Amino acid sequence: MKSAEIRKKFLDYFASKGHQVVASSSLVPHDDPTLLFTNAGMNQFKDVFLGFDKRPYTRATTSQKCVRAGGKHNDLENVGYTARHHTFFEMLGNFSFGDYFKRDAIQYAWELLTEVFKLPRDKLYVTVYAEDDEAYDIWTKAVGLASERVIRIGDNKGARYASDNFWMMGDTGPCGPCTEIFYDHGAEIPGGLPGTPEEDGDRYIEIWNNVFMQFNRDEAGVMHPLPKPSVDTGMGLERISAVLQHVHSNYEIDLMQALVKAAARETNCSDMESPSLRVLADHIRACSFLIADGVIPGNEGRGYVLRRIIRRAIRHGYKLGARAAFFHRMVNDLVVEMGDAYPELKDGQQRVTEVLKQEEDRFFATIEHGMAILESDLAENSGKVFNGETAFKLHDTYGFPLDLTADICRERGVSVDTAAFDSAMARQKEQARAAGKFKMATNLDYSGPTTTFHGYESLEAKGNVL
Ligand code: ATP
Ligand code: MG
Ligand code: MG
Ligand code: MG
Repeated sequence: MKSAEIRKKFLDYFASKGHQVVASSSLVPHDDPTLLFTNAGMNQFKDVFLGFDKRPYTRATTSQKCVRAGGKHNDLENVGYTARHHTFFEMLGNFSFGDYFKRDAIQYAWELLTEVFKLPRDKLYVTVYAEDDEAYDIWTKAVGLASERVIRIGDNKGARYASDNFWMMGDTGPCGPCTEIFYDHGAEIPGGLPGTPEEDGDRYIEIWNNVFMQFNRDEAGVMHPLPKPSVDTGMGLERISAVLQHVHSNYEIDLMQALVKAAARETNCSDMESPSLRVLADHIRACSFLIADGVIPGNEGRGYVLRRIIRRAIRHGYKLGARAAFFHRMVNDLVVEMGDAYPELKDGQQRVTEVLKQEEDRFFATIEHGMAILESDLAENSGKVFNGETAFKLHDTYGFPLDLTADICRERGVSVDTAAFDSAMARQKEQARAAGKFKMATNLDYSGPTTTFHGYESLEAKGNVL
C-alpha cells in the first residue's frame, strides 16, 4: 500500500466514525508565540481543547505537516542516525473535543490497526501512564491484550531512558497522560521494549500516541483541568507506512525512496545506503515545506533554523562530491510525490526552487574554504574537543552555523568547545557595540509573505542548537 493510500485510508476510517476531515494547518503557527513550528496535529486545535474556541464539530481527523527541528520536540540531531526520525513528517490524527474519551479512542486505534490495516496482534505492544488503571483495564479487558504486552510507564523524571507517557505540546499548554502503540520490527534489530534501558534502539518502534487531554499547564508548571476531557492522537505516516510496506526504516518507504533516488542522481552517488542521501531526502522536505509556508532563510528565529537545515543539506551534498548548487533540483521530485496532497507545494514550486538556489549559491561560495579550515583543525588537533575559537571563525566568516560544525565533528567522534565559542561570540558582540556598528539584516530578494518568530531570541548565541 502506497503512503498516499495509507493517508487516505486513515482519514476515511475516522470520517466513517463521524470525524470531520480538516486540512493541515501551516507549519508556521502565526498566532502562537510559544511554538517555533507546528510540531503536532493538535496545535491547530489548541484553543478548542482549552475551551477558548468552538468548532461546529466535536470530532476531527487530519494529516498534519509537522517540523521538529527546535523547541520542545527537536529531532534534527536524530536525522541520519535513527530509522524513525525526520525533521519534517506527516502526523495522522483523530481528535475528540469533549466527545469520546479513553475507551473509544483505544478501540478505534486497535480496530484500524488490526482490522483495516490487518497488523498481526503479536507484533504490537502498548504503554500506558503508570497510574492510569483505566487505560490499562481497557487494553487488557475490553481489547483483551495479554498483560505482558501492556507496559506501565511513569513520567520518568530523572530516569536514564526516554519513554514518557505524559505528553506535552510545549512547556505550557494542553497536556495529559497517554497510551502509545509500538510495533516489533524483529529480533535481528537492536533495541529493547519501551521502559527498558535499551529502548532507544529501533526494534520496537512507536507508531501511534493517543493522548488523553486533561490539563492545561501554566508557566509555573501548575496543571489546571481542561473544561472537558478530550482526545488527541498522532501517528507518523512514514512509520505506519514502513510497517505496512514491510520495511524497517522510514527511509525505505515509497515516498522517501523517490527522494533518496533524487538525491543520488543530483550528487552522482552510487551508494544507495549512504546516510547522507537520507539526510538530503529528509531535509528537502523540511526546507521546501517551510519556504512554501512563508519562512525564508535568515539570521534569526525561524529563518535561522531553516538556514541551518539548508546548510546541513548542502554539506552532505558536498561530502558526496557536489561543488555547486544541486539541492534545489530535488524540489521537482518532491512536488511529484507530495504536490497532490499539499497543493501549496505545487503553487510555491518556483519560489521554493529560487530561494533554495540563492541560499545554495551563497553557501557554496564559502564552504570549500571553511571545510579546509575545519579539516586541518581536526587533523592538527587529534583530541576529542574541537577548538571553539575556530568554530566561531567558521560561523562568523564562512557561514558555518555551530550545529553544522558540531555535526561534522560528531561524525569523527569529536565534540565542540561551545563555551569557547560562546565567549568568542560575546566578545565580538561587545566589540561591535563599542564601535557603534549595527548589523544589517541580510535579506534575500523575496516578495512573498514573511514570518518572524520572537520566542527564542538568538538561538545561535545560546548554543542550544546542540
Ligand atoms: P519518538 O519517541 O520516536 O521520538 P515521540 O514520542 O517524540 O516519538 P510523539 O510526540 O508521541 O512522538 O508524536 C506522535 C507520533 O508522531 C509518534 O508516535 C510517531 O509515529 C510520530 N513521530 C514523532 N516524531 C517523529 C519524527 N521526528 N519523525 C517521524 N515521525 C515522528
Ligand atoms: Mg521524539
Ligand atoms: Mg516516544
Ligand atoms: Mg510519543
